[in-house]
Amino acid sequence: MKTIIKSIYDNYRNFTGAGKVADYIAPLANVSADKYAISVCTIEGEKYNIGDYKEKFSIQSISKVLTLAMLAPLTGEELWECVGKEPSGSPFNSLVQLEYEKGIPRNPFINAGALVITDKLLQKVPDLNNRLLEFARSLAGSNDIDFNKEIADNEYRTGERNKALAHLMKSFGNFNGKVSHVFRTYCNHCSMEMNTEQLAQAFLFLANKGINPLNGEQIVGYRDSKRINALMLTCGLYDESGDFAYRVGMPGKSGVGGGIVAVIPGKLSIAVWSPELNKYGNSCRGIATLADFTTELGISIF
Ligand code: GLN
Repeated sequence: MKTIIKSIYDNYRNFTGAGKVADYIAPLANVSADKYAISVCTIEGEKYNIGDYKEKFSIQSISKVLTLAMLAPLTGEELWECVGKEPSGSPFNSLVQLEYEKGIPRNPFINAGALVITDKLLQKVPDLNNRLLEFARSLAGSNDIDFNKEIADNEYRTGERNKALAHLMKSFGNFNGKVSHVFRTYCNHCSMEMNTEQLAQAFLFLANKGINPLNGEQIVGYRDSKRINALMLTCGLYDESGDFAYRVGMPGKSGVGGGIVAVIPGKLSIAVWSPELNKYGNSCRGIATLADFTTELGISIF
């Protein structure tokens, strides 16, 4: 494993220029395009890290898995009347589909779906900002995880499209809270900063039947762990989820900060960070790395 990860890292070490660092949230544009890190954690407790794995970055949409995992044990099947479980076939921030599907987002990982999850969570967990940080810290086994206020403030000020999504859903009766409050909370959780080492560790519960291997805590039941993995496989990389399943063969989740985290149930989790994004908003080098990882190791969910 160690040799394969090192050889993939060396192979892609100078792989830049294939995409573009996100700049629609201004502070994200200041991150250097050549950052590159890989971290793997196995459920047996082995860890492999290489590159900029100690450097934290904005996890952005990867946080949508954490909020869904927090909500899953607090809710029943009624959640799926408010948000779907199908790939959207559209960009992560698209408004079009939401209008003709009457304010019900296709899945919890596009922005509209994640806003519904945050809205629902806030009704059950009013102190969501602190609870989400505690949740991430306990999963990662590290207290050194926080929101980035500059990034959250910037997205809150400029995120007109996300506010439009929330208002559109509210007009259809699929949004309970105040748009400003829910959106502010959403911006906070997207601004959460972690490094790949923390991220790989934090997602290991999804490779371990919903149990945090660090302390044996059941985070979600096996049923929800299976379901969250299925949603990551079919929707985790937006309109590139099919290609990701084809090339990589793992349930995964990306964020516009350039992170991708993926799991093989029963085996391991892997986090990759490389900020240059393709047209779908997914890390170019991250996908290439993960594709080689599963092929060269001969392990994937297929
Ligand atoms: N905060 C970002 C947004 O709402 C998250 C998008 C992403 O990471 N794909 O646009």
